[in-house]
Amino acid sequence: MPQICFRFYGELEEFFPHARRGSEHRVVFNGPQTVKHLVESVGVPHIEIGRMENEGHPVGWDYRPRGGECIRVYPRLPRQRWPADLDAPRFALDGHLGRLASYLRLLGFDTWYRPQVEDADLAAVAVSEKRVVLTRDQDLLKRKILDYGYWVRNTDPHRQVEEILARFGIAELARPFTRCPRCNGLLEPVPKELVLEQLEPLTRKYYDEFYRCAACGQVYWRGSHFAALESLLKGWLKESAD
Ligand SMILES: [Zn+2]
Repeated sequence: MPQICFRFYGELEEFFPHARRGSEHRVVFNGPQTVKHLVESVGVPHIEIGRMENEGHPVGWDYRPRGGECIRVYPRLPRQRWPADLDAPRFALDGHLGRLASYLRLLGFDTWYRPQVEDADLAAVAVSEKRVVLTRDQDLLKRKILDYGYWVRNTDPHRQVEEILARFGIAELARPFTRCPRCNGLLEPVPKELVLEQLEPLTRKYYDEFYRCAACGQVYWRGSHFAALESLLKGWLKESAD
């Protein structure tokens, strides 16, 4: 049966364990297959691929290899930059990335997240609202409809935040504590007297500055947990700036 090989470059190597990086990936196939199908069968979603070459010639997605080709595969997204044809950073996260969603919102990034979302619905939102899909599910990124997507390499939510800030170079665009971590709505200052009835007695006694989510109405203030959260966010942003 015919076979071809792929050689991946740059961050596309991160789809493979360390021992497999820098080497060729051989695929045996049967019958006519598009190169898109074959490259995704190795585990690299087309959405992260910028261009492919065979002996210096560009290869399109519909190219059907005869066998024997060795195809070089390069990443699509620019390093440490937000894609130029998208506006401000906007994300759509799969239903398993709840903590990453909260952290990105706390940093002020517009982050669409629903825990029970179907893949098709998530993809549709991402396309219509020009959002970059973030997911740990490589199959989700193989959907043809998607324009932009990124497979989150880390599993720990804190490392994930650092990864996303670095990957897209967006730390400078962070606006901490301007967005509701529960629903993604924008926070606005609200006079204390307007939220008095929602406050516990001690909060009413010790705090005077309040913010309210314009979307869900949740009230926030700089309570006892605030300092720890603030230093967490500052740590991420400093790490990214360094
Ligand atoms: Zn809210």
